[in-house]
Amino acid sequence: MTELKIDLPGRGYPILIGEDALADGAKRLISRFPEKRAAVVTDENVWKLHRERLASLFDSCGIATLISVIRPGERSKSIGALSRLYSEFANFGLKRGDPVVAFGGGVVGDLAGFAAATYMRGAPFVQIPTTLLAQVDSSVGGKVAVNLPEGKNLVGSFYQPDLVVADTGLLSTLPDREWNAGMAEVIKYAAIDETSLIPLIKGRNGTEGGIGEIVRLCCMCKAGFVERDEMDAGPRMMLNFGHTFGHAIEKYHSFEKYNHGEAVAAGMALAARTGEMLGLTDAGTYERLAALMDAAGIDYEFCENVMALIPLMSGDKKNTGDEITLILLKRIGHPFAHRIRPEKLLEMAEGFVQTPHFFASGRDMGDIKKVSLFPYGRIDIPPSKSVSHRALICSGLAEGEGAIKNLAASDDIDATARCMGEIRKALYGNHPQLGPLDCGESGSTLRFLIPLAALFPCSTSFTGRGRLMERPLDRYLEELALHGASCKLSDGMLDISGPLKAGLYNIPGNISSQFITGLLLALPLLGGDSEIAVASPLESAPYVDITIDVMEQFGIQVKRRGYQRFLIKGGQKYRACEFAVESDYSQASFFLVSGALGADCACIGLNPESSQGDKRIIDILRRSGVKIVSDSHGGLSALPGAFAAQTVDVSDIPDLVPPLAVFFSFCEGTSRIVNAGRLRYKESDRLAAVAGELGKLGAKIKILDDSLEITGVKTLNGGIMSSRGDHRIAMMGAVAALRCETPVYIEGASCVGKSYPGFWADFMKRAIT
Ligand code: NAD
Ligand code: ZN
Repeated sequence: MTELKIDLPGRGYPILIGEDALADGAKRLISRFPEKRAAVVTDENVWKLHRERLASLFDSCGIATLISVIRPGERSKSIGALSRLYSEFANFGLKRGDPVVAFGGGVVGDLAGFAAATYMRGAPFVQIPTTLLAQVDSSVGGKVAVNLPEGKNLVGSFYQPDLVVADTGLLSTLPDREWNAGMAEVIKYAAIDETSLIPLIKGRNGTEGGIGEIVRLCCMCKAGFVERDEMDAGPRMMLNFGHTFGHAIEKYHSFEKYNHGEAVAAGMALAARTGEMLGLTDAGTYERLAALMDAAGIDYEFCENVMALIPLMSGDKKNTGDEITLILLKRIGHPFAHRIRPEKLLEMAEGFVQTPHFFASGRDMGDIKKVSLFPYGRIDIPPSKSVSHRALICSGLAEGEGAIKNLAASDDIDATARCMGEIRKALYGNHPQLGPLDCGESGSTLRFLIPLAALFPCSTSFTGRGRLMERPLDRYLEELALHGASCKLSDGMLDISGPLKAGLYNIPGNISSQFITGLLLALPLLGGDSEIAVASPLESAPYVDITIDVMEQFGIQVKRRGYQRFLIKGGQKYRACEFAVESDYSQASFFLVSGALGADCACIGLNPESSQGDKRIIDILRRSGVKIVSDSHGGLSALPGAFAAQTVDVSDIPDLVPPLAVFFSFCEGTSRIVNAGRLRYKESDRLAAVAGELGKLGAKIKILDDSLEITGVKTLNGGIMSSRGDHRIAMMGAVAALRCETPVYIEGASCVGKSYPGFWADFMKRAIT
C-alpha cells in the first residue's frame, strides 16, 4: 500500500493506493470519525459485486451505516437523486461531522460529493473509487457536481475529500470497456505531463498487476496540477486535454454511444491532429499518442462527424468569447492552451476526413466518397429491375426467339434468367425433368416462379442462399395446395409438385404483391379459366400493374376489377417479341430531385406511360411547385426554383422516401412523409437511416411513429454520413450535397453497386457554379 498526500493550504488529505487499501482505509475511518456513523452512497452494480466487502469493512470498524444505492449511470447525477440522498441522510439522522462515503465510480463520487458539500453546510467526505477512471481522476481534485437537463455538471462546487481510498483489488470486476475508459485518462496524464507512465501502458492483462503504480503516478500528476491551481483558472486546464472534443462527442451522441473515456480517447486523437495541422504540434506527436492507445488496446479513431462537433464545442463552459479553448501538445509531455475560432476549426475539419489515421482500422478509406461534383447533361437511367424480371419470365415462356434490350444487371436478375433457362428447357426442349431452380438470394425470383414450377406434373426443387427460404411463404403454399400442387419446405429447400389446376384463388391482400404476380404469370397457361380474389386492399398494387402491362406486350390478356378480382382466361400463349426495358423511376427520382435543387441534368429512358408506382415522383414534385419538362430527345428534367412543403402518403412508394426526404429538406414549411412504416424492414431500418443520416448533415427531420416530419431550410451544413450499407441512403446523401455548405462525405459509398453500379460516375460530372 502506498500513501500520497494532497497538499492544499489547511486542507491536505491522504490518498491510500494498493491491492488491499480498504483494510488500511478502515483503520483511518475509525481514527478520523469516532462518532461511528456514516452514510455510504453506492450504485446497484457495485453493491451487487462488492456488498460483502463493504459490509465487513464497516462491521469491522463498528460503524453504523446508511447504505444509499442509486441506479448506475450518468442519469443518477441529477437533482432528483440528490434530493433523495438529502432525505435519506436526514431520516437516518446523519449529523454534522458524520462522513458521507462515496463507494463507486465517478457518478457516485460526483453525486455523493456534492451532497456532502451541501448537506448541513458541509459534511466530511470520503472517496472509495471503484472504477479506474475514478481512481486516477474523478476522486482526486475536489470537483463535485450534478447535471441539469440543460447540461452536464452545471450545478457543483469544489469540495475536497478528507480521505481517498483507491483499492485496486476492486477493479478486478470492472468490465473491459470501463477499464479502457480509465486507461484513456491514464494516457492523458502520460501525454500532458507524466511521461514515466509511458512504459507502463499495456493492454489490460499486461497492466493489471502493476495498476497500483499507474494509479499512484496519475494521482501524483493530478495532485500536482490541483495544488498549483485548485480552482481551475490556469495550469489545471491542461487536464482538459482531449476533453473539449471529447465532451462534444459525448453530447453529439446524447451521452449514449460512448462513455467518457472513449470519447476522451477520440478527443485526444483529434486534438493531436489539430495541433499538427496548425503547425503548433511537432510532427509525429499524433503517431506517438496513437501508439500509446494501440498499446492499451483502446479505439480512438472512429469516424465522427467532426463538422457537427464544432458547434457543440463552442457551447463548452470553458470557453470565453467566440473562441474555443483547446489544449494542444507541443509534443508529448508539453501541453498548452490555444484559442481558436470555430470557423477555423470547421475549415480544418475537412482535412480530418482526408487523413487515413482518422478512420478506425478496418475502415476502407477507398469507400468514402467526397461528393464534390454534381449531375450534368443526359443521364442514362438504369433499367427497371421489376420490368426486367417480368420481361425475362414472359420471354422465357414464349415459343420462338425474341429479344430483350436494356435488361437490368443484378444478381437477382441473373437468378431469374438462370431459372427461366431451366423452365424453358422443360417447356420446349423435351426435357422431362425440371430444376433444381437456384434462386440465389432473390425473393422475387422465388415467388414469381413457384406457380410456374407447379404447372409441371413432376417434382421441382427450389434452393436459395442466405435467409431466402425463411421469408413467409405459408399462406401462398396453402392456396397452391388447394389447387393440386403439393409443396414441402424443409432444410432450406422447397419441393413443388404439380400439376396446378385452374379455378378460384383466394388471396389475403396483406400478402406480398409478388405472389399475385406469380399467379398471374402462370395461370394463363392452364387449360381452364381462373380468377384471383384478393380479400383486403392490396399492398404495392403498382407492381401488379407492371406485371399485367408486360404480359400484355407478350400477348397475354388479364382483366382486373380494381385490385380485388383478376380474371385470367386459360389456354393463352406467350408470344415472343422485341422488348425494351424502360428506365427505373425510383433511380430517376434522385436525378429529378437533383435537378430541382440546381443540377442541370436530364433523365433518359423513362416511359411516360409507365405503370411503375414510383412514377409518382413527378406528380409529387409538381405539387410542390417543381417544373418538369421533357425535351425532344425523350429526356426529362426538373427545373430549380422555390418549393412548398406538403404531406405525402408513401405506403405504395417506399423507395421514394430517401429522395423525397432530401427534397423536402429544402421546401419552405414543414412537410410530412406519412405511412412509411414499411421502410423499417428494408436493407437497413431505412426510416431511422433517412432521419439519422440527413440529421447528421444538419436537416431538421424527425420520426413520429411511422412518419417523418421535415422542416425546410435554405442550406444544410454537410459533413460525414454513413450509407449504412443501403444504396438509397448513399444516393440520398449525394443529392443532399447539392445544397450543403461544406462537402458531404459518404462512408460505405460503394453500396450503390447493388442497384446502380454506375451511380457515382453518372452523378459526379460537373462542379456547380
Ligand atoms: P460510473 O460511475 O458510471 O461507472 C461506470 C460503470 O462501472 C457503472 O455502470 C458502474 O456501476 C460500474 N462499476 C463501478 N465500479 C465497478 C466495479 N468495481 N466493478 C464492476 N463495475 C463497476 O462512471 P465512471 O467512468 O467511473 O465516471 C464517470 C463520471 O465521472 C462522469 O459523470 C464524469 O462527469 C465524472 N468525472 C468527474 C471528474 C471529477 O473531477 N469530478 C473527473 C472525471 C470524470
Ligand atoms: Zn475526463
